[in-house]
Amino acid sequence: MLHIKKFVFSPIQENTYILYNEFKECIIIDPGCYFDDEKQQLFDYLKKMGLVAKLLLNTHCHLDHVFGNKFVHETFGLTLHLHKDEQKMLELAPASGLMWGVPFDSYQGAFNFIKEGDIIKLGEDELRVIEAPGHSPGHICFYCRQQHFIISGDVLFQRSIGRTDLPGGNPQTLLNSIRQKLFVLPDETKVYSGHGELTTIGEEKLYNPFLN
Ligand SMILES: [Zn+2]
Ligand SMILES: [Zn+2]
Repeated sequence: MLHIKKFVFSPIQENTYILYNEFKECIIIDPGCYFDDEKQQLFDYLKKMGLVAKLLLNTHCHLDHVFGNKFVHETFGLTLHLHKDEQKMLELAPASGLMWGVPFDSYQGAFNFIKEGDIIKLGEDELRVIEAPGHSPGHICFYCRQQHFIISGDVLFQRSIGRTDLPGGNPQTLLNSIRQKLFVLPDETKVYSGHGELTTIGEEKLYNPFLN
């Protein structure tokens, strides 16, 4: 059984998720820790909980989701898992950091590419990779069928959707991704987004103004 801990990091207020099981193993998704005290907070949490970090995943590689990749890589010795179409976004991220006044040192390690249908395993628990482009070209979500939740990155938010004006973004592609890949999941599926509060697939089908 997976437990979910959320941190809100950086001036961009990005949600970083730690998924951990009863064997004290964990997955770190989109480490957005920017400031030293945020990195310390992440480190201290794992230490306090006695968690061993096993996997580093990115839903996509906009700067706010990758600020802490290097720290996690160097601290826990993890290789980054991402979709191959996000590699170029990752390469662009430090330049946009400079442009937006949030310079940072990017991840320089190896890549482990993942794609639609891949199963990410942590002990007995499984997350299925769902490709959902539109906000970013290689955006993926992580779906846990057993526990009815999805880590949706910046595809779907509570009453909102991801922006499509960044490089590789496309509004129609994003709407198609949401309708064809997310809205086909059970209504009770909890949606843990890259920004903002928890929602469900059922609630967003009913109330999301961008999808009516
Ligand atoms: Zn994004
Ligand atoms: Zn974001």
